[in-house]
Amino acid sequence: MGDGDGGGCDRWTLTSTGRFHIVPPMYGGGEMNTIPVLDLPPAPRKRLVVITCMDSRLDVFRMLDLEIGDAHILRNAGGRVTDDTLRSLILSMHVMNTNEVFVIHHTGCGLHRVTNADLQSRVGLATGQDTAHIDFLPFDDLVDSVLGDVERLRTLPLLPIGITLHGAIYDVHTGTLHRVI
Ligand code: ZN
Repeated sequence: MGDGDGGGCDRWTLTSTGRFHIVPPMYGGGEMNTIPVLDLPPAPRKRLVVITCMDSRLDVFRMLDLEIGDAHILRNAGGRVTDDTLRSLILSMHVMNTNEVFVIHHTGCGLHRVTNADLQSRVGLATGQDTAHIDFLPFDDLVDSVLGDVERLRTLPLLPIGITLHGAIYDVHTGTLHRVI
């Protein structure tokens, strides 16, 4: 971890308030992280879960007008409903009492219109490892991917009865959310 002198390639700086501050390399500086410590319960206030992509352009809180403490946010490449997403979702709904899910995919996604073969080849060439067994869950059609992932949730017997499911596409160029289901 950094010692605050900003030297070398260490981008982490421990601030006087005890928080770590990541210096964006393109700026060489930045705003100090001053997120306030809030006295909130762990269960999401709006009883909401959002499943979406890890894409750095997606501000999930602003997208859905959320605040800290409002929702569980489950993110991965593509915002796909994977087995590990289900592990978290099952805990969220049964232990933390959430009852509503948004599945949000987005335009310009790195998994849109690519193939497993391409991705497996890239990783295989970089590492020398056999990657044929890895399904990166790429997709050709945004609407179909949202509908498919919502359907997987709808047919999962391990989720509570009566939950509300939504599917949407976020347009990264216009900053707007479009309802799919
Ligand atoms: Zn994405």
